[in-house]
Amino acid sequence: MTESRVAQPSADIVYLDANATTRTDPRVVDAMLPFFSGYFGNPSSKHALGGHAARAVKRGRDQLQALLGAASPHDIIFTSGGTESINTAILSALEAMPRRREIITTAVEHPAVMALCAWLEKTKGIRVHVIPVDRQGRLDIAAYRAALSDRVALVSMMWANNETGVLNPVADLAELAKEVGALFHTDAVQAVGKCPIDLQSTAIDMLSLSGHKLHGPKGIGALYVRSGVAFKPQIKGGQHERGRRAGTENVPGIVGLGIAAELAAEAMADEDIRVRGLRDRLEREILAQVDHCVAVGARAERLPNTSTIAFSFIDSEAIVTLLDRAGIAASMGSACSTGSFEPSHVLVAMNVAEEAVRGGVRFSLSRDNTDADIDRALAVIPGVIAKLRAISPFCANQGAPQALGRAHV
Ligand SMILES: *Cc1c(COP(=O)(O)O)cnc(C)c1O
Repeated sequence: MTESRVAQPSADIVYLDANATTRTDPRVVDAMLPFFSGYFGNPSSKHALGGHAARAVKRGRDQLQALLGAASPHDIIFTSGGTESINTAILSALEAMPRRREIITTAVEHPAVMALCAWLEKTKGIRVHVIPVDRQGRLDIAAYRAALSDRVALVSMMWANNETGVLNPVADLAELAKEVGALFHTDAVQAVGKCPIDLQSTAIDMLSLSGHKLHGPKGIGALYVRSGVAFKPQIKGGQHERGRRAGTENVPGIVGLGIAAELAAEAMADEDIRVRGLRDRLEREILAQVDHCVAVGARAERLPNTSTIAFSFIDSEAIVTLLDRAGIAASMGSACSTGSFEPSHVLVAMNVAEEAVRGGVRFSLSRDNTDADIDRALAVIPGVIAKLRAISPFCANQGAPQALGRAHV
């Protein structure tokens, strides 16, 4: 119904930017629609319409509990998305443990974590330990161990990196935090729906997720808080979410997120094989057809859907622009650095070579992608890179990229 009425600008686009956002699954949209109109009640209302909405919220909570392997549905707090969940987790931990004034995080976090930690350091005098990664994006465990002490309130480390897909061994990292009595939070926005998760069997205290990264709607997310973990609400008001996050529930969003969680669980095994196959073919063919590029973090454990390729001698902004003109949607590092000429902090932290660090392009796939998408992308990418290298001032001044490659690699 909606599909015939609205324009479909995405129909001709090969969309390889799933880590930025995903298409809301039509089954998610269908499940949400009644809660805008026929069943518009407020879950706090005591009449029948309110009761219907309250039951829908309960169902969404149960569906998320199942996807996460949480012990109780009440371990789930609905929020407006990944950023709010992350902010809540970090601020709550510091407030719950006022005598501990240190945080441990990593050099490759999403801006939602990094910017908040920088602000806490600058304005609240919190000491922030930023743990480095190696060239494959793997965390320096020795540095992490060295930073742990009873002064640390919270460790916040992402499950899967949004730019490279590199995975952290979060269950083990959480065990280490426990040894010093620190809380452990993970930004799992890119992992939820892509990796099997069973929180009951881990020491993870808090986990953040977002609907729109798993084919759910934008503006809805959740924070998992293990029962028994000290929690300080950051949004004050009514008694919603058991007094932990005030504000009338986003009922359509919660319904959509619940269905998205169920669909993700169903699709996960297939994605791990089929989408991984598409990603691997794309990456292998680019590396085979294009000189002077590297697949970033490809030797580490990583998500099945993500490939970041760093192309030497050219800027990712130019690459992404030309790919876009050819109908291929990809991304340069994190969306938040778009518009600035700073190289991605993730690629910098991974020590990507000087001549390639500004040329990182992220291709991120989802269950919506097909073999034909990869064919179309591969028909375009080598030509775009060759064209840009031909006009690159760096290449023009210094001679052929081949000659440079020998000098720099
Ligand atoms: C997208 C993303 C976020 C932010 O989630 P929003 O719901 O868009 O606020 C946080 N962390 C990671 C790793 C992400 O990819």
